[in-house]
Amino acid sequence: MTGEFDLIDRIRARVVARDDVRLGIGDDAAVLAVPAGLHLVVATDTLNADVHFPADTAPADIGWKALAVNLSDLAAMGAVPAWCTVSLSMPTADAPWVDAFLDGFDALARAHAVALVGGDTTRGPLSICVTVHGLVAPGRVLRRSAACAGDDIWISGTPGDAAGALRQWRAGGAVDPALRERLDRPTPRLALGDALVGVAHAAIDVSDGLLADLGHIARASGLAAEIDLDDLPVSAALRAAFDADMRYRLQASGGDDYELCFTAPPSVADAVRGAARASATPVTRIGRMQAGAGVSVRLAGAPWAPQGAGWDHFAASP
Ligand code: ADP
Ligand code: MG
Repeated sequence: MTGEFDLIDRIRARVVARDDVRLGIGDDAAVLAVPAGLHLVVATDTLNADVHFPADTAPADIGWKALAVNLSDLAAMGAVPAWCTVSLSMPTADAPWVDAFLDGFDALARAHAVALVGGDTTRGPLSICVTVHGLVAPGRVLRRSAACAGDDIWISGTPGDAAGALRQWRAGGAVDPALRERLDRPTPRLALGDALVGVAHAAIDVSDGLLADLGHIARASGLAAEIDLDDLPVSAALRAAFDADMRYRLQASGGDDYELCFTAPPSVADAVRGAARASATPVTRIGRMQAGAGVSVRLAGAPWAPQGAGWDHFAASP
């Protein structure tokens, strides 16, 4: 029977090395050298089995996603990630499960040079809580409240794919592999977020659905957002899998995509495209911020009303 300390040894054996980790896993707390002149940016997110990922999700994909959703929050702030901690609650001390979990977690941590510096390991229902720490120059973060009237609204990637996979999975039939990949292995848009610092005004990562998260920008900025459904980028897989009505609902209200939604004045549209090219991340202009409140959606020139503005983790479908 594997013990808690054996699990921690397995975790410690695989962490990414960084010079600024003065003391990592093994003591009562980690000691990190924060560079002078930078601000520390901290985000945390929990993944619970059956709530945040389907129960049949591979452990490696759970590991990837647990870190990805947290890195996505740093991307949306324009921060560069440095360190993280993991609190792991699991029913039994399952070493093969932890090894597989680390396969996915580590692949993403290594890609972004994120060092795992501590955490907690307890017995309980399967739940993973990750906290990430990143760095940003003072005054340079991308805040939700910084949108201006007249700003263009942009989105990265193709929203709706993750929700499309979840809908197919819940229906019990075949799940398109390309859609399932977007659900299980979201891409934190760190390079784009970094490149948008000094270019974009406001930014948020889309975890609860485009309309809900764009609504946060609108509310925090004291403005209205208007988007056009025809302008939303759509993946070939989503287009093939759903009729137009369902596809629009998934694109507008489906969660779990972890794309960046951001605003920038039309005068810097070329700089936005430059940031997209530099970070090899597709971006699409989908609407405009203006005076007023709320998020309005148009389709072929007419108002379009979604069923439910966001993604409820406990709801049956979008
Ligand atoms: P304490 O009892 O002092 O809280 P623990 O026995 O919980 O210490 O943890 C021992 C060391 O292992 C600490 O450095 C802690 O941060 C680290 N650790 C425990 N669980 C994990 C985990 N799941 N991931 C990374 N580090 C962990
Ligand atoms: Mg201790």
